[in-house]
Amino acid sequence: MTAVANTAPSGADVLLTPVEHQQPYWPDPGRLADVVSTLDGLPALVQPDECDALRLRLADVARGEAFLLQGGDCAELFASPLIEPTRNKLRCLADMASVLRSGSGLPCLTVGRIAGQYAKPRSSGAETRGDRALPVYRGDAVNDLRFDTEARTPDPGRLLAAYRAANRVLSDIRRLRTRGRALFADLGGDFFTSHEALLLPYETALTRNDPSSGRSYGLSGHLLWIGERTRQPDGPHVALMAGIRNPVAVKIGPTTTRADIAELVELLDPHREPGRLTFIARLGANAVHDLLPPLVDEVLDRGSPAVWVCDPMHGNTRTTADGIKTRRFETIWAEVRGFIEVHRALGTHPGGLHLELTSRDVTECTDEHGPVRERDLARRYESACDPRLNGDQALELARLTAPLLRP
Ligand code: PEP
Ligand code: MN
Repeated sequence: MTAVANTAPSGADVLLTPVEHQQPYWPDPGRLADVVSTLDGLPALVQPDECDALRLRLADVARGEAFLLQGGDCAELFASPLIEPTRNKLRCLADMASVLRSGSGLPCLTVGRIAGQYAKPRSSGAETRGDRALPVYRGDAVNDLRFDTEARTPDPGRLLAAYRAANRVLSDIRRLRTRGRALFADLGGDFFTSHEALLLPYETALTRNDPSSGRSYGLSGHLLWIGERTRQPDGPHVALMAGIRNPVAVKIGPTTTRADIAELVELLDPHREPGRLTFIARLGANAVHDLLPPLVDEVLDRGSPAVWVCDPMHGNTRTTADGIKTRRFETIWAEVRGFIEVHRALGTHPGGLHLELTSRDVTECTDEHGPVRERDLARRYESACDPRLNGDQALELARLTAPLLRP
């Protein structure tokens, strides 16, 4: 498979223009090729049998016998004074899983947006501050958040840094698995990693053949998803996902049609294998009641066992008068409720939640009845990209959701 890599012909302006398939313009194609060949020779980050184990657990979700909690940062960072220890991230998910499990009576499968969430799709190629426009931040695997020309220029060396950062987090997780028995008991005995498979050179280099099965796996993470902006049925991201044996997910936004769903099912799960394909709906609290039912119907008509997960974050983002990107807790909760109501009405399983969250006491999402009002947002806004639920908000959402999941 050939990886799409946009390379900039010349000049800084080209770095500001929209890109194909969300691939950054890499200004130095020779360096990119070197990096890809280095990545090709590095060990896989996760193992095929671990991906298989996750697919089997997701099959339980597909049958309505378990619930998926997938969560973590919008954008993980390589390093910063604000970096959150892996243990705290897992503890937050473990606490939520305990609440969901005891409140719903269902097993809860936990998957982190972790150990690989270093690349971001963006709606615009440029970020303007005052009269200055620079290439937009595309995640630590591409460029730096700092607003200066050098920092924002895509650097292929960052793909190697992403590999090393993911490897460090995976080592933390392995260490916690052997030493943190109580933590892993709350996580449900196991824990898996996931990220958006966005950067084609990186993901292709980590796609490996498994000699024991003769199949290809994307070994940068256990569950790989493609985003709302890269889910074109004839696009390179869908082709990449179609070629691997991992469980895969697709984010679907309000423009998704029944025909899109039909094509994605045929391409990504032709054998109708429970646990293979997950749809992550991010339709918006106002639209979920209208838009979700026909999409679920299409999945049923296709005989697809696809898992349905609700991402109540990405359809409900807004910008305040001060220009701060935020989300209202009440709106997030409204989309979760709407998602569950739709599934109850259709007799299908509301399979899980996909959330942007942190255990840190940040002020990124507002809550009308809690301590974070719009005027508080600037106080501790630490996200490099989208606003996350803080630890209290995340746990509250789990508390509210759990009773609605009782079968
Ligand atoms: C994300 O998950 O951070 C994201 C960009 O989502 P979506 O593709 O649904 O917009
Ligand atoms: Mn996001």
